[in-house]
Amino acid sequence: MAQLDSASPSEGEGCPFEPGREHISAGGLSDEDGIRRAMVLAGEAGAAGDAPIGAVLAVDGRLFAARNEKEARHDPTAHAELLAIRAAAEALGRWRIGGSLYVTKEPCAMCAGAIAAARIERLVYGCRDPKGGAAGSVIDILGSAAVNHRVEVIDGVLAEETGAQLRAFFAERR
Ligand code: ZN
Repeated sequence: MAQLDSASPSEGEGCPFEPGREHISAGGLSDEDGIRRAMVLAGEAGAAGDAPIGAVLAVDGRLFAARNEKEARHDPTAHAELLAIRAAAEALGRWRIGGSLYVTKEPCAMCAGAIAAARIERLVYGCRDPKGGAAGSVIDILGSAAVNHRVEVIDGVLAEETGAQLRAFFAERR
């Protein structure tokens, strides 16, 4: 349905993402591709002891990938979405970033605010967060009339897989 460009070659195949680094995309990224890439980052976060959440920001034909590093950095703002936005802003030299952000889980209030502030055009996410989701589940920051930038929101892409990844992490730590 949201398939962008099925003719794009399987670029970056087997190329591991490193958080905060820039990755070049040869072509369009389908929503599922984006979420799958973000899930790889989420897996890395989980292996490092952080909740498995990953984000990939596609803008100007470039990809910026990040994982949740809240525990690793002892930084309450080191969410995957924010780290990807910061990496893009730094590399592109602008704060009006645009592009499509792929996240494994519905963003929190802080990240939803940052997504609007960065003028992201599309937000694609995996599972909903019934406890803190700010893209409609608990609060709807992006849908608020007080936010003067409209972000297209696509939810539930690989919702089962992304949800299972989070559940497995927390089940293991119980
Ligand atoms: Zn967040």
